[in-house]
Amino acid sequence: MRQSKLFTKTQKEVPGDEQALNAQLLIRAGYIHKEMAGVYQLLPLGFRVVEKIKQIVREEINSIGGQEMIATSLQRKDLWERTSRWDDEVVDVWFKSELKAGGEVGFGWSHEEPLADMMINHISSYKDLPTMIYQFQNKLRNELRAKSGVMRGREFVMKDSYSFAATEEQHNEMYEASKQAYTRVFERLGLGDDTYVTFAAGGAFTEFSHEFQTICEAGEDITYINKEKGIAINEEILEKTDLAELGITKDQLEKVKTAEVGNIFNFGREKAKEVGLFFKDENGDKIPVWMGSYGIGVTRAMGVVVEKFADDKGLVWPENIAPYKVHLVGLNLEDKEIADWAEGVYNALVERGVEVLFDDRDTRPGEKFADSDLLGLPYRVVASKRGREEGKFEVVTRATGEVRSLTEEELFADFA
Ligand code: ATP
Ligand code: MG
Repeated sequence: MRQSKLFTKTQKEVPGDEQALNAQLLIRAGYIHKEMAGVYQLLPLGFRVVEKIKQIVREEINSIGGQEMIATSLQRKDLWERTSRWDDEVVDVWFKSELKAGGEVGFGWSHEEPLADMMINHISSYKDLPTMIYQFQNKLRNELRAKSGVMRGREFVMKDSYSFAATEEQHNEMYEASKQAYTRVFERLGLGDDTYVTFAAGGAFTEFSHEFQTICEAGEDITYINKEKGIAINEEILEKTDLAELGITKDQLEKVKTAEVGNIFNFGREKAKEVGLFFKDENGDKIPVWMGSYGIGVTRAMGVVVEKFADDKGLVWPENIAPYKVHLVGLNLEDKEIADWAEGVYNALVERGVEVLFDDRDTRPGEKFADSDLLGLPYRVVASKRGREEGKFEVVTRATGEVRSLTEEELFADFA
């Protein structure tokens, strides 16, 4: 991608009402556009980050047998009434609207009910189980407070999966597989060291559900962790549960601020029973399907990565989810010979499969470097007149500030 063609511009100012560091940086760097509080457009650079996160999640959920689909955003009132969750007193984040033709619809804030109902058409026998479906979708939630930037949106991208099992054993297997897949996802996103599988309340037939909580100052949750034992407990559990059950005492736990990047939930047979999703077991008895649901906050995870890795100069992306791997910064491009040569380096990198953003703009070097720091791509490669004369490229690793001087041969060997 040539930066001269990128329609987004970096900016010094952010909307006055934007308090969250993650959104401030993403707006300044041109990754997102603030439409209104808690609602952000994903611009080309932000879109690429989100797509990379989605692809990591997709690979891991596919690897445990998840089948991808897309559900609708508009949802039926009668269906949510069946499970007593249409009521605003019960679910406090509903957006609802009225059809001109008469009747009400809800805007999808979650999809257990519609997908359980849909599966009535596809599950009839124990032979149809177990199975797992998932999707990436913009969820719409009328959140009371939207002050955490992309970490709490009124519209945000979620990956949600739903598992359908005949037996508790089948369910447990998918639940455990999801837990493992989530652990791999957060490792690949660069959040592995600080993300804890946390005991949380909820779960119809089990005592606990599990949240994936990442240590983050900008997070809205409080979690109690023991790093050595790898145990984490949320506030509600701390108050309600006999900690001895979890093999820990309160003084062994450290209180930290965290962001919930994902959670996994066991419904037992309760949800399917309410919705009317039954199957026939080996004896021909009709029993409700055992369901689980599993969420990952895709755009929240992006925000958490920003909050954790950014420095005073701007964004810092882990390589796996950076929009481009290399920021090729061309200097002295007013000299036609240098411009042609830098163009050649750009093309050669692209041909070798490297994702490159080429700053070919007619801009002062100081501005190019400041923008490069702000955009936060993992490696900055400078192609300048002096470098060309010396046969060297200056390569700076954004995360560490490490500076290397590479020959063209070394550069291609390193990045391709
Ligand atoms: P929270 O307690 O933060 O409101 P939740 O319990 O409502 O989260 P779920 O309904 O289980 O969350 O959604 C699954 C995942 O989606 C969460 O773990 C979180 O990562 C993400 N998520 C939830 N609400 C938002 C939001 N408003 N903006 C961005 N991501 C969100
Ligand atoms: Mg919520």
